[in-house]
Amino acid sequence: MTSAPIHTGASIYTGASIYPEFIPATDAHPTHDTFEVIEAGGARGRGLRSKARFAAGSRVARISGVLVSASGLDTIQISPTLHLHDRWFCRYLLHGCEPNLLLDLATLDALARCDIAPGDYLGIDYAATEDRLAHQFACACGAGTCLGWIHGRKETPNAEGRAYLARRAGG
Ligand SMILES: [Zn+2]
Repeated sequence: MTSAPIHTGASIYTGASIYPEFIPATDAHPTHDTFEVIEAGGARGRGLRSKARFAAGSRVARISGVLVSASGLDTIQISPTLHLHDRWFCRYLLHGCEPNLLLDLATLDALARCDIAPGDYLGIDYAATEDRLAHQFACACGAGTCLGWIHGRKETPNAEGRAYLARRAGG
């Protein structure tokens, strides 16, 4: 696996797009040749794995979806009133407090925050995706900066989260 060539530019986006036909194609939409949805195990559910190698700072894919007016489980907020609903690619990005992907919401590029190897699960920081998350949740990702309880940018932990954090601090 580690002997895979380093992919750069648009040449890796061969094969069928992960996005359905009704979403207009662009040069860097993720394809089934380059990414796979796979059972990540345990409570993580299904995740997205890279089949290619990406250098830190490079574009991993350009994301897309359908614009909606409210946050949901599969949305990324792109303005105060607009959310990108992406149940084809972003849906399968796992949460991490120090993930390997960063979403540039001005260009809709998913960028590598570190070197990514074939077989790596791809993740983003859900706390950075929405002002208010449709579903807050506990995190034990192991990162030094792990928040323990994940909530949106403009909200605080809900009652369940406050209780969880209090138990965690006490115990
Ligand atoms: Zn965490």
